[in-house]
Amino acid sequence: MIDFHVHSDYSADAKNTMKEMAASAARRGITHLCFTDHVDIGHKHREFARFPNKEYITEEFAEASAKSKVNLYLGLEIADNFRKRDIIVSELKYWKLDYHLLSLHMVDGTDCYDARYFQRRPREKTYRLYLEALLESAVNFPDYDGFAHIGYCGRYAPYLPKSENPLRYSDGEDVIDEILKTLINRDKALEINGSGLLRGSVTMPETTILRRYRELGGENIITGSDAHRSIDSGKPIRECYELAQSLGFKYVCRYENRVRFMESIEKALE
Ligand SMILES: [Zn+2]
Ligand SMILES: [Zn+2]
Repeated sequence: MIDFHVHSDYSADAKNTMKEMAASAARRGITHLCFTDHVDIGHKHREFARFPNKEYITEEFAEASAKSKVNLYLGLEIADNFRKRDIIVSELKYWKLDYHLLSLHMVDGTDCYDARYFQRRPREKTYRLYLEALLESAVNFPDYDGFAHIGYCGRYAPYLPKSENPLRYSDGEDVIDEILKTLINRDKALEINGSGLLRGSVTMPETTILRRYRELGGENIITGSDAHRSIDSGKPIRECYELAQSLGFKYVCRYENRVRFMESIEKALE
């Protein structure tokens, strides 16, 4: 099974080394694991707003790979920011990665984990702004492989009951269709992010959006735990595979040197 979204301690909000993340994933039946540490240029917390030290991370990755039972890959979770896009893209040219995971955390300069993002406007408008920013990113970011956690705006949303928080297809059918069609036309992979499953919530994107992606002809899904601690590494992946299978998907992607490979879901679940 494939887990192509984990954070090592090269991310400011993560706790464990690459070796620890890999050992834990191996125990959960993960065969392919990709480190996607944070780069969030323009973020107000400076520890996120820079690339990891290339020399250190490459060296540690090589060491972890040499001893790992799991096939390891090096990527980055590249948080888009249209105001800083030129800087992000020009720095990426100096990196040789297996996987570019594009994500979006900030809408209009505010991270959706910040309670202020949800103030002074109704839920409908708040989610709409997120979706519009996401579409702009999917269309205009020049160089990525996978598209992370559609629905991130719902992860820290304050609405009650909590079951109201996940972003669903009904929250913006027109924009969501445009995002999904963009990913299909640009031949990108749609991430099924399982981190919500660890907290009793749902995947990102939520099932109604995944179903719509399938209806539109989307086939390229990629699974990620988004684990920030070794105890979560690989943990929700089996459940993501089962969900994908129930929706009619046959394969999960992974990337090596930016080239896509496919794994049969049926075989992986045997
Ligand atoms: Zn993220
Ligand atoms: Zn992440």
